[in-house]
Amino acid sequence: MSGPVRSADLTAEPTASRPAPSITRIPAARVAIGGQAVHRTLPRRGRRTVGAWCLVDHLGPATVTPGHGFDVGPHPHVGLQTVTWLLDGEVVHHDSLGSEQVVRPGELNVMTAGHGVVHAELGAATAARLHGVQLWLAPPEATRHGAAAFEHHATLPRLELGTADATVLVGSFAGSASPARRDTDHVGVDLVLRPGTTTLPVDPTHEHALVVLDGAVTVAAPGVDADGRPTAADELALVPPGPAELAVTAERAARVLLLGGQPFEGPVLMWWNFVARTRDEVDAAHAAWRDGDPRFGPVAVALPRIPGPPPPWASPGTA
Ligand code: MN
Repeated sequence: MSGPVRSADLTAEPTASRPAPSITRIPAARVAIGGQAVHRTLPRRGRRTVGAWCLVDHLGPATVTPGHGFDVGPHPHVGLQTVTWLLDGEVVHHDSLGSEQVVRPGELNVMTAGHGVVHAELGAATAARLHGVQLWLAPPEATRHGAAAFEHHATLPRLELGTADATVLVGSFAGSASPARRDTDHVGVDLVLRPGTTTLPVDPTHEHALVVLDGAVTVAAPGVDADGRPTAADELALVPPGPAELAVTAERAARVLLLGGQPFEGPVLMWWNFVARTRDEVDAAHAAWRDGDPRFGPVAVALPRIPGPPPPWASPGTA
């Protein structure tokens, strides 16, 4: 329920425009995935990753029906992890490992693509609400070419912290650790905020993003400049490494994702559903999907495979 990455997302950031040590806001781009509008706050021009998080797609809230549903047919992934988290509704995940798994609010799906995996994601067969996020992580060199894998977590650590009800999706937060696989030092937390200010303990070696899904919040951190303006729904507030706590203020109820991690080791190259380091790797993945290479196995759904667009650097006639 996320991706693909478009050419408009690819523009490299000039070194001179890297964020200063201050809290900055990044608005989402609107893209269409599986027939539904999605707000994408990563990757954006000027910001490729937050920790190893390299894609943040927010879908809905929307009403899906059999005639206007959410169905994404079989498509490949390489070199990334997908993290799927719903706020409302349900999605059925099918993959080339043989997994068939419904994910519902409170549950987490984590798919590791490694050298190659194929999956399909289907919305409910009857009219229903659908609201959720899908996040991608760029794995480190040690695991990005490894075996594909899929995890479902029916329960995750939950805690109350000030005016927040927190669910730890991945990593550790406020003394609670998620059981989800984690290949780099990163964290993801869902926060249901009541009006007021909550102080979130964070790892000072991490950079952080607060992605507002509903409502608005004002973010402040010791030693970091901030203009005091609220971050609205479908904006991302970016906090550089340094602070050990973040103060998040909501005037009204709000829903926010806290994403953080060690600044990623190097640049990632993202095209369509592939995360790589070089154009040759993307070209090889594109050709393997086009040519039916066995690294991309079958998925037991009736929907047709989604053809991959040639990379923007491909010569005419070679795609
Ligand atoms: Mn996918």
